[in-house]
Amino acid sequence: MPEVMSSEVVVIGGGVIGAAVAYYLSREGAEVMIVEEDDLAAGASGACDGFISLQTKTPGPHLRLAMESAQLFPALAEDLEVDIEYRRCGGLLLATSQDQMKELRARAKALKAEGLEVEVLTVSDLKELLPEVGKEVKGGSYCPLDAQVNPISLTLGLAQKAQEMGATIIRGCKVENIVVTNNRVREVHTTVGNIHSRRVVCAAGVGSNQIGKMIIVDVPVLPQRGQILVTESREPVLKILVAGAEYLGTKANIQALMPADVEAAKLGLGFTAEQTAAGNLLLGSTREFVGFDNQTTPEAMNAIARNALRYLPWVEDMDVIRSFAGLRPCSPDGLPILGTIKGVRGFFLATGHSGDGICLAPITGKMISELVLDGETSLDITPFSLYRFK
Ligand SMILES: Cc1cc2nc3c(=O)[nH]c(=O)nc-3n(C[C@H](O)[C@H](O)[C@H](O)COP(=O)(O)OP(=O)(O)OC[C@H]3O[C@@H](n4cnc5c(N)ncnc54)[C@H](O)[C@@H]3O)c2cc1C
Repeated sequence: MPEVMSSEVVVIGGGVIGAAVAYYLSREGAEVMIVEEDDLAAGASGACDGFISLQTKTPGPHLRLAMESAQLFPALAEDLEVDIEYRRCGGLLLATSQDQMKELRARAKALKAEGLEVEVLTVSDLKELLPEVGKEVKGGSYCPLDAQVNPISLTLGLAQKAQEMGATIIRGCKVENIVVTNNRVREVHTTVGNIHSRRVVCAAGVGSNQIGKMIIVDVPVLPQRGQILVTESREPVLKILVAGAEYLGTKANIQALMPADVEAAKLGLGFTAEQTAAGNLLLGSTREFVGFDNQTTPEAMNAIARNALRYLPWVEDMDVIRSFAGLRPCSPDGLPILGTIKGVRGFFLATGHSGDGICLAPITGKMISELVLDGETSLDITPFSLYRFK
């Protein structure tokens, strides 16, 4: 490894966002270097679900970004050498009270008005998609465009393809400082040497605040822990993504859909379930602000298991084989932070994707690549600017 390196663009972070940015930049022929302090997918992108969920997005710019992103997945699945296990399986949001049903109905109307296909279903309509649900379930909403992907394969696939197109990936390389002179990024200092570069993309997930400090900019990203239970592998038993209305409540801060139970509310508990291509069920999840602690806890494990039984009682006869927790890079409003910084040319933000980074990775990669190379984007990303918080 030479002591002084150089690259047209340095991407900080080898999670799904950094990998997507590197992929789209490499496709345009840019010289790219990913620097990752640990390993690819070592952060949230390696400890999450694979929901490409559209009906859980907020109508407006968030939904539009997600719909554009969802459209990019089929081409990615074709282009990447790694099987990313992409499936347009459809998704269900389940209600356990009439109040929740009312809220889901109103949301379905708002989502439909923006062109997303969403159907409100009664319990008997549900039977076709999900033969057995808990007695508390009162119905739900269904989006046929919701899809599923393997997040680790997606991250590795994007990075590998970027590498094939010429990108360099340096693992075990922590960014310690960014040199800015005359209002322009000049150099990135890392634990393995200095890199001359006039363009730096921050895709450092929960490390983004630290990176921002290096150029004296506050990037308001906090770690939000999410815990997941993994069951033994089974033949296909769940062909669709499933979430509870409270998942949407805790995710999007919708008061009417928050968990009524105090303990559940404290954990930010919201039901999610999907079956991976390998046959394991991923049962989730929680939302807690506990700093950089990414340990699982017995309280959360119990709460997730009990909650899963409310929605899908048949999981009772499945063995749990492991658990994991990841740290979502959470912005104050849960939406990504994308774009440039005032007064520091050559610095770009691609962070704060909170609980949506897998879904939004392709469109983020594409938009940031356009911004870095052309100075403008084909889709308006100003609603995601850092300056919406000021
Ligand atoms: C339990 C859980 C479930 C989730 N489910 C979904 C889902 O179903 N669908 C969905 O769309 N999203 C989901 N998410 C959210 C998704 O995981 C994240 O939004 C996404 O992974 C963020 O990707 P990232 O690349 O920004 O961050 P990360 O994957 O965390 O990558 C950032 C990388 O930057 C590196 N880094 C940090 N600082 C430095 C530094 N100074 N120098 C070098 N490298 C550095 C880190 O080591 C890390 O590898 C979930 C998250 C969790 C925790």
